Amino acid sequence: ADPVLAVIGRPNVGKSTLVNRILGRREAVVEDVPGVTRDRVSYRAEWNTKEFTLVDTGGWDSDSKGMASRIAIQSEVAVDMADAVVLVVDATTGPTSTDEMVVKMLRKKKKPVILAANKVDDERGELMAAELWGLGLGQPWTVSALHGRGVADLLDEVLNIL
Ligand code: GDP
Ligand code: MG
Repeated sequence: ADPVLAVIGRPNVGKSTLVNRILGRREAVVEDVPGVTRDRVSYRAEWNTKEFTLVDTGGWDSDSKGMASRIAIQSEVAVDMADAVVLVVDATTGPTSTDEMVVKMLRKKKKPVILAANKVDDERGELMAAELWGLGLGQPWTVSALHGRGVADLLDEVLNIL
């Protein structure tokens, strides 16, 4: 079977936008209102002739109480099914307590993780992304899922570990 890559992260960081960018078509549901993607949606993807299954996650009510731990728990399902994980964070807001909780969950797993610092639409964002080294997941790969910036480099790195 194809290797599985799960895209996780808190609502509205751009997971579905990144998934669409990787797929090269508009398929995953992108919404300004967080919480639209339902649980887990799988797609067949290809990069540099390598085929893999791409799993978009989401569907959490971001306003509800205990949101952070619920996102971590539900992401865990996707992580357990995956061979590798892309954790998407919003570089323009910096790490939140929800991000920290997801990272804590990831630390308990033995899965390779790549940190995608999204919404770095131009060079100015690079500086803010440096803060994300603090998450302890190694290099933050700065990308703009919306414009495609950095996504090829991210995918090259993903395929190295997949
Ligand atoms: P998800 O909840 O993590 O799946 O996030 P979405 O993919 O639905 O995106 C949430 C919002 O962030 C949408 O309004 C996107 O257009 C926006 N967004 C996603 N990626 C980027 C990016 O690279 N740059 C900017 N400026 N906005 C982005
Ligand atoms: Mg989504």
